[in-house]
Order: sequence, then C-alpha cells, then structure tokens
Amino acid sequence: MVIAIDGPAGAGKSSVARALSDELGFTYLDSGAMYRCVAAAVLMRDLDPGDPESATAVAESIEIDFDWDRISLDGDQVDQLIRTPEVTEAASRVSVHPGVRAALVTEQRRLISRGRYVAEGRDIGTVVSPESPLKVFLTATPEERARRRALQTGGDADQILLAQNERDRRDSEREVGALRVAEDAVEVDTTDRSLDEVVAVIAGLARGRGLA
Ligand code: C5P
Repeated sequence: MVIAIDGPAGAGKSSVARALSDELGFTYLDSGAMYRCVAAAVLMRDLDPGDPESATAVAESIEIDFDWDRISLDGDQVDQLIRTPEVTEAASRVSVHPGVRAALVTEQRRLISRGRYVAEGRDIGTVVSPESPLKVFLTATPEERARRRALQTGGDADQILLAQNERDRRDSEREVGALRVAEDAVEVDTTDRSLDEVVAVIAGLARGRGLA
C-alpha cells in the first residue's frame, strides 16, 4: 500500500515524505532518486541523455538499491553524485523517455507491493499506483520553490528559477507520466506552511482513512 506524494521540484516532497514515513512507521521511497541514478549511469557511460534507446537500455540493466537513506547504483554509493547539477539536468532529460519510465515504474511497483510506503515523485498517484488510498499533490509558488532550492544547494535564486521552469515544462509536457494532479488527490500548498504543519495535515488524512 502506498501513500502518494506528487508535485513539482521544490514543493517540499522529500522533507514531507520522509517525515511522514517516520511519523506513520512506513518505508520511504524516493522515485526521483531512481531517475537520477539512470541519469548518472548514462553520463558515466558517456551516452547522450537525450537518446531514448541508450537511456532505456541503461534503465533496464542497472541495479538500484535503497538501504535506509543510502542509495547505491550497481553497488556504489551515489547519494552525493546524483544531487549534482549535471545529474539533475540529465535526470530531467532521461525521464521523458517512455522506455526509461516503463523500466522504473515496474521496479517501483515491485518495491511498494512489499509493504507500507510513502512514495514521492511526479506520477505515483496517476501511473505507478492509481489505486493508492491517499494521494497528495504538493505545490508552492515557483519563486518559493526556487528560493528553497537556492538555500539548500547555494547559487543564485533567479538562475535556479529559470532552470526550474525548464524542468517543470519537461515534466508537464512529456507524453508518458506527465506531472498532473490525480482526480482524487488532495492538493496542499506548502508556500506559507511549516514542514510540521504539512506533515500533520497529511498524517491526519491517513489516520482519518484508517491507513495508519
Ligand atoms: O524529484 P527529483 O527532483 O529528485 O526528480 C529528479 C528528476 O526525475 C526530475 O527531473 C523529474 O522530472 C524526474 N522524475 C520523474 N518521475 C518521478 C520522479 C522524478 O519523471 N516519479
């Protein structure tokens, strides 16, 4: 069973999904980290992230493992590598390929079938698990999202906003797994809310639905 937390980059999905999984005793799944692993593997092999065939072959052949907060790619720890600007950009590009998405969605479904998960991403409630009993769509204004990213990673908020707009566009315009609000999702705007407030709202919904 999975609680789906979807939304654009910087809306607070990772912090909210982690804290919520702790609060409810569920396992946390960061689906974005899996797209980042595909991107890192593509770059390591000197392949083009824009080429669907090679990116799909990589997605189908790599092994991604989660051990609590540690992510490994073919046995190597890649937690820091997958957060670099190069991999962030390449992840946005490999994630438009339907073959890459099919490989990762299969793996995500296999993982979440094993227990109780809080999974975050773009398409958890719409594609990976349309039967999810609680779908949350987190939003925040683009400026606030860029401001948070700048605080986390350093860098200029205006430039971050421009790059973010481009990734948002790819996320919403791709043909498969586009970012959209599931019909039965609850939308939560995090712009003026603290992490604790947002987690309390979602935990309340989960308990109200008898999920925890
Ligand atoms: O959430 P995060 O920024 O780590 O995601 C990295 C990339 O993976 C993003 O560019 C996003 O487009 C893509 N992604 C996706 N589907 C998901 C999760 C992430 O396409 N379920």
